[in-house]
Amino acid sequence: MTRLYPAPLGVLVACLVAPGSAAAEDDPDGDHHHPPPEYAAPGWSMPPSSFAEAEYPLAAQFIEADPSNFTAGGIDVVQYVVVHTMQGSYEGSINWFLNPDSDVSAHFCVRSEDGDITQMVHLDDRAWHVGNSNSWAIGIEHEGFVDDASWYTFAMYSRSAELARWLADRFALPLDRDHIVGHVELPNQTHTDPGGNWDWDLYMALVHDLVGEGRIEGVVVDPALACTLTATSDTYVKATLQDQADLGDDAKCFVAAGTELDYLHAGDDRVGHRRLVLAEDGPCAALGEGFAFADHFTGFCAPEELAVAGATVTLDGGAAVVVGADGAFAWSDVGAGAHTIDATATDFEPASLPIEHAGFPGARVVVRLPSPAATGDTTGSGESAGTDGPAPPPADPGTAGDSGDAGTDGPAPGDAPALPDTYGESEDAAGCGCQAPTAGDPRGWLVVLAAPLLRRRGARRRRAHAGA
Ligand SMILES: [Zn+2]
Repeated sequence: MTRLYPAPLGVLVACLVAPGSAAAEDDPDGDHHHPPPEYAAPGWSMPPSSFAEAEYPLAAQFIEADPSNFTAGGIDVVQYVVVHTMQGSYEGSINWFLNPDSDVSAHFCVRSEDGDITQMVHLDDRAWHVGNSNSWAIGIEHEGFVDDASWYTFAMYSRSAELARWLADRFALPLDRDHIVGHVELPNQTHTDPGGNWDWDLYMALVHDLVGEGRIEGVVVDPALACTLTATSDTYVKATLQDQADLGDDAKCFVAAGTELDYLHAGDDRVGHRRLVLAEDGPCAALGEGFAFADHFTGFCAPEELAVAGATVTLDGGAAVVVGADGAFAWSDVGAGAHTIDATATDFEPASLPIEHAGFPGARVVVRLPSPAATGDTTGSGESAGTDGPAPPPADPGTAGDSGDAGTDGPAPGDAPALPDTYGESEDAAGCGCQAPTAGDPRGWLVVLAAPLLRRRGARRRRAHAGA
């Protein structure tokens, strides 16, 4: 499909023929935002932060570009988020935008090694980075060089994708390649960045994989209905979308061909992967959740097959939301800080999930509701754990002490381990019962478990389910 640049183009043409538009940023050749060689060389240091705070909440600092390098108040209507490559270093480019002779600037600069972000121009101000498209564009400069893919690290992709998502949401831009574009894709440009080494598929997958600012998105599932995948080849479940070879052993889980893998939620396609929230026992359970290459598994289930349809969820005791057949729910405009999600459903034990909401990105939640009592015991207490059904897998000693109150009121907030460093590890056979993300990586799913005893029912029902 041909890429379209609808509304702004007409305006741009008008701008080009308008008299008196010879300012540096309107010069078609005036997009030379790349620093001269001396600025691309190593050895530059970071200037001190400006007094003003960055508008982007995840920016490390605001260092204002020299006022002669941008147009105060010059943004019209933002139509594009523009990806650039610096052709230089992070520190060198920041210093270049501070040089009044450069006549160039960008709103944001992103560091290669860790994705550190410096904002340099406020969003209402027109940075000079794409010539005659500047009035409609927010610019993100990435450290590195177009002909050397090694600068385009996963950390930089991830942090930049967060920024692009935040910008797109802020300016109500569709999350597509007509609005999140490379410098080379805008009209009348002399530059080729970010070039063929930029992985647009990965970048856009990361943009889509985020939850927007102030949102909580979740599903209510019945852990007894866990979906069972079968690996069709040797493969990995990975903590991120990186190639498995780039991940440490604690961030990936090998799955041999023929292995069965139980999951409670599968996200949308992300460059051929699905984000799986794994059942709390079985292969890779220690990972908690991860990305699985979809073509390496068979047996994916529709969301309706795992959901507790009709469950009621509330946020901080507010208005009740009744979930539909897919079990999904969402809240918007949720402030950063501590919140509590409660879920109930007929014949299910209630669940309560304390979460720490980062603000941006938003949070994902998987609420696991305890399964209906199978033999009439309705107390939900741990007493029933050993009284019915087939023998469970060998119990972890750590779960025994927790089973008495399991399923009644969820874990205490203080029990929530951090993500992703300890993600899954402290799940430790459901001894904790919940996982909360850190502010540093709040994109993971929060998971509330029901009760250790329910794993037995889950295993039993899963067998029944599989045999149905
Ligand atoms: Zn550029």
